[in-house]
Amino acid sequence: MLILRAIFFLFFFSVLHASGQDSQKIDYTKYMQRLIELAKQNPQAPFAAMIIHQQTGEVLCEGLNNTSLNPTWHGEIQAINACAEKYPKLDWSKTILITTAEPCPMCMGAIIWAGIPTVVYGTSIHYLTENQWNQIHIDSQEVAKKSPFYHGTIVEGVLHQETDKLFKKSNSLNYKI
Ligand SMILES: [Zn+2]
Repeated sequence: MLILRAIFFLFFFSVLHASGQDSQKIDYTKYMQRLIELAKQNPQAPFAAMIIHQQTGEVLCEGLNNTSLNPTWHGEIQAINACAEKYPKLDWSKTILITTAEPCPMCMGAIIWAGIPTVVYGTSIHYLTENQWNQIHIDSQEVAKKSPFYHGTIVEGVLHQETDKLFKKSNSLNYKI
């Protein structure tokens, strides 16, 4: 009887473990490397984002900051808008948003409203602020915490040594977004 019970628990926990594994299996660094290349296309505001599928790892949409054209055109917003247009029936709960810098409160709000359960970023708002980028001083964790219906995961600092360089470099251009 004891053995049976042990087998049952082993089975139960392995099923539990497997169900949460999809996003953990993904190597975010290769996506971040792609984003760093994309961000270099806008050295004055190297904020680039993409949305990938949690299970297949397929890149669904990308976005690059273009606030000179539209003040709300942040990389994350463009990626979300592009996905909404390209995949009208997209199951947002199966997506991951990856971005070179921590989402600002506007973008984090959009991510939460979209129901994207995993957010991955390189450079933190704290680093941007320290490097004189204009930022609203509310980090992504705080926006998530204040949204009781949202239960997402935020993965911080992926390849941040590389992404930090993008934002350090931009400082020399004296462009503050
Ligand atoms: Zn933003």
